Amino acid sequence: MKIVMIDITNACHHACSNCTRFCGQHPKPFFMDVDFFKKAVDSMEGFPGIVGIIGGEPSLHPHFEEMMDYYASRVKEPRPSAFLGTATATFKDYGRMVRYMRGRKRGLFSALGPGYYKNFEKIQDIFPYQSLNDHQSISMHQAILVTRKELGIPDDEWLKLRDNCWIQNIWSATITPKGAFFCEIAASMDMLFNGPGGWPVEPGWWKRKPFEFGDQLNWCESCSVALTVPANNANDDTDIVSPVMYERLKKVNGPKMQKGQFIILDTNNYDPQKYKGHEPDPIWYLPQDKRDDARIAVVNTVLSPHKIDVVCREGQSEMATLTPDRVSSLDFKDWVAVFRDAASVSDEFLKAASRCVLNPGCIYRYGDTVKLFNRRALALRNVTSIPLNGTLHELWEKKKRIKISNYPNLDVNTPFERITIKAKQIGSRAAFLLPA
Ligand code: SF4
Ligand code: SF4
Repeated sequence: MKIVMIDITNACHHACSNCTRFCGQHPKPFFMDVDFFKKAVDSMEGFPGIVGIIGGEPSLHPHFEEMMDYYASRVKEPRPSAFLGTATATFKDYGRMVRYMRGRKRGLFSALGPGYYKNFEKIQDIFPYQSLNDHQSISMHQAILVTRKELGIPDDEWLKLRDNCWIQNIWSATITPKGAFFCEIAASMDMLFNGPGGWPVEPGWWKRKPFEFGDQLNWCESCSVALTVPANNANDDTDIVSPVMYERLKKVNGPKMQKGQFIILDTNNYDPQKYKGHEPDPIWYLPQDKRDDARIAVVNTVLSPHKIDVVCREGQSEMATLTPDRVSSLDFKDWVAVFRDAASVSDEFLKAASRCVLNPGCIYRYGDTVKLFNRRALALRNVTSIPLNGTLHELWEKKKRIKISNYPNLDVNTPFERITIKAKQIGSRAAFLLPA
């Protein structure tokens, strides 16, 4: 497996159709205990792939920051992130920058809920690999709660399908508050249906081989990930379930059951031919040609500045809202743009900045004209007064001082384009050398 997950919560701001964590089916979400989380992180020592942090929406965990600090102290990342403070002009570019996976050790899986904006700086500091999907675009999620017996799949055929299941072959085992599991779906089922729990979370648990999976394989009998079954749009918030699983869900009686958000599959007339194109496969759930666009919607409001207060260092005018001596007493909560004087205040700049993905942990500046920072930056955490003079940026560590070179347009795509071109050149050379 490339990844082993730690499920720190199954709380989520969405309740997508056929969610792998069954969000919307649980009467109450869990939040992993911090000490248990530390034990889970420690148990992964030596794992060669990514130790992934996932939910639900993991950034909704109330102790997210404390947990991630511990995680970063234990899971060492060999290479820095591609995105630190570069003001990316589009969400698509931002999504690409943080999605390069090979060789990574740390990974975050997020649907960009409100906790993501709140923890943006910490997330950039810690996670060079992020799998982001805000689930605002159409994406097709395959039915999970269908048993193979109801579909009439015989044992010999089933065992082959099960053993080739992509989740256990190439994707992810996981740790939940109930223990360690060979497969993330098996773990979610154990949580939903009050199962016996997983293996003890102890160092090296992840070295188990398939012949040691034992009773955990029983969960496969309730799962249709390895089968050709229908899928529906994640945004419908409606689970496709078989009659047997429907009866089991009735006993759980979560919000989706109470609201009737399910479709019962007609298993008597099961015909896999009807679901051509939806064969079990790890990647088809987003449109192949539009995956980069589909992950983060253009209307997403989580990544760009929510509010920018304007401050002028000198002078007064109708636009000059504040003078330096008053700044320290003001309670800014989000972004602040400090212009040199009233004459340099630029709507164009503010508009461009509010459309960019900016890291609240960085200070952005264009010469002496404007400085842009976020009051929630870790650099300002214990600062009671903010000097607006030339020393302001010195509060930030050097790598978090970002120069804007092309004010006022913030045409900021260049660095990423350069990386892409370089990667393409290296790729074509490698292909040329390979036969030799
Ligand atoms: S965003 Fe992810 S975790 Fe949340 S409900 Fe959707 S699929 Fe499940
Ligand atoms: S069939 Fe389901 S439970 Fe079994 S390995 Fe695949 S995803 Fe996991």
